[in-house]
Amino acid sequence: MNFSGVKEKTLVLIKPDGVQRGLIGEVLVRFERKGLKVIGVKMMSLDEAVLREHYAHISDKPFFPGVSSFMQSSPVVAVCLEGLDVVAAVRKIVGITKSREADAGTIRGDFAMSVACNVVHASDSVDTAQKEVPRFFKADDLFEYEKGEYEHVYAADERAK
Ligand code: ADP
Repeated sequence: MNFSGVKEKTLVLIKPDGVQRGLIGEVLVRFERKGLKVIGVKMMSLDEAVLREHYAHISDKPFFPGVSSFMQSSPVVAVCLEGLDVVAAVRKIVGITKSREADAGTIRGDFAMSVACNVVHASDSVDTAQKEVPRFFKADDLFEYEKGEYEHVYAADERAK
């Protein structure tokens, strides 16, 4: 997979609270309006093993069992997005972990009050994204296509990156 320039990819998971609260569309529209390219969408149930891998950095924290059972409480929607500096751009749109302190205008700031139930996961670095995208998407689940609006989303020199 090519992760450079406008082909940079990131992983978003719409968490069980987002699915249960009917926020799948609200979340997707924010990324679409920004000009990001959706190259994969997949509903799935997560198990303990994938959550231990995905949340390895918090698996020894006392709140991990609660996070794990919450993440298994209903299906999630995995989304792969592509764009120039998409990892950083998506983290800004998502907002900080503690939703009730997240900036208004961010997904967490607008739709959530909780730390654990914060609607979305988004890869926190390019390195992380390179591990997380293949964790949830097989190569066949991702689509390469031209997006006509790129002519208006990016300047010519940015499109060439
Ligand atoms: P982020 O999702 O913002 O990158 P982290 O990687 O630090 O945040 O944590 C992963 C997820 O674990 C968070 O999105 C949240 O759902 C949960 N979490 C983090 N810290 C806590 C906490 N102190 N209490 C409960 N859940 C937490």
